Amino acid sequence: MAEIICVGTELVLGQILNTNAQWLSRRLSELGIDVYYHTAVGDNVNRFKEIVTNSLNRSDLIITTGGLGPTQDDLTKETVAEVLQLRLVLNPEILKNIKCFFSRIDKKMSHNNEKQAYIPEGAQVLPNDMGTAPGIIVEKGQKTIIMLPGPPHEMKNMFKKHVIPYLKQRFAEGLIKSKVLNFIGIGESDLELKVKDFLQLKNPTVAPLAKKGEVSLRITAKGKTLKEVEEAIDKVEKGILSIVGKYHYGYDDEPIESVVGKQLIANNITFAVAESCTGGLICNKFTDVPGISKVFKEGIVAYSNEAKTKLLNVPQELLVNYGAVSSQVATAMAVGVRELAQTHIGLGVTGIAGPYGGSKTKPVGLVYIGLSAGNTIQCKKIQLHGSRKDIKERAAKYAINVIREYIKNSKN
Ligand code: ATP
Repeated sequence: MAEIICVGTELVLGQILNTNAQWLSRRLSELGIDVYYHTAVGDNVNRFKEIVTNSLNRSDLIITTGGLGPTQDDLTKETVAEVLQLRLVLNPEILKNIKCFFSRIDKKMSHNNEKQAYIPEGAQVLPNDMGTAPGIIVEKGQKTIIMLPGPPHEMKNMFKKHVIPYLKQRFAEGLIKSKVLNFIGIGESDLELKVKDFLQLKNPTVAPLAKKGEVSLRITAKGKTLKEVEEAIDKVEKGILSIVGKYHYGYDDEPIESVVGKQLIANNITFAVAESCTGGLICNKFTDVPGISKVFKEGIVAYSNEAKTKLLNVPQELLVNYGAVSSQVATAMAVGVRELAQTHIGLGVTGIAGPYGGSKTKPVGLVYIGLSAGNTIQCKKIQLHGSRKDIKERAAKYAINVIREYIKNSKN
């Protein structure tokens, strides 16, 4: 249905990452428009011409970024006009805007900038509030080519302001709405297997998205009214949650620390955290939550064995007999920090973030999460994968999830 062509020699030389393609694909997917191809091409007329010609044969909507500037190697507009056999005509409105832009930034407009005021005949102009190159929409029969500037901030602003309304009108069939369900504690393939029937649906569609340490499912429904669309999403959501509800922690962009932080605040449950391998990441995440000071009392990073004994009263013999990465030490850290801070909950995390320090019995990625709350003292053992940073990030999320599970179970 749609494809994206990004123009720029820097892209193909690997000097910059093609973030425009990623960003645009996400927005198009939210609009329910399927993207089948991404192409990056240097500033070369013949190669770009070949790509545009092929794209027109297979896609209804082509979005290009880059190559709209005033210099000789900026070739997008000229090449598209040539392929579509359209003349370039001077647009006095654009010329006026460019002149205004230069007087606003107090710079002299160069003769080259006039080139930007030429557009293919019959094309629609998209104003650029953040730069000089306007965007252009050309329609020919069933085909549409939308040309956007390369600089990401200009492209995004123009897309949100002008392209989304245009696409909604031209391509989207009625109303489209999405809802993202977030899960933790279950692997991507396991989740996909459990909900595989839902992944086959056509409307609403259900698409898995993997993030670090968690998995999400995006439900997207199309329909004529908001009620119709919301009911369709609700029905699918209920079906999915009846299978994997125990791993579900929240919706859309809300991170787990926010969900759990709000629950702790709402229920006035105080807590303290003792961290080893996560190095303060759990405390850092919780302190992103507004109002958390009401319940978050203390956080201690006890990295060495001495610190665990000195700061958290972890008995020396536990460290000697079982090692710092053990369920005994994780729970002793949780008990220790809870006693120190006099809170409802104490959390203790210890593990091996790697890449060194693993052994056969205690491999890299092994993490113990201890919890002390009420009369409960428990420990969760998990085996994580990835780089040192990945393991820290995943361990922090899993540890926060241990609090979520505790709150949930103590309510039942
Ligand atoms: P202008 O000449 O008005 O800046 P343009 O449309 O000619 O706009 P380019 O010259 O192709 O844009 O790109 C300008 C800058 O934007 C690049 O140097 C790069 O930093 C950034 N850019 C371009 N394309 C991409 C892309 N696909 N992903 C991320 N950044 C990009």
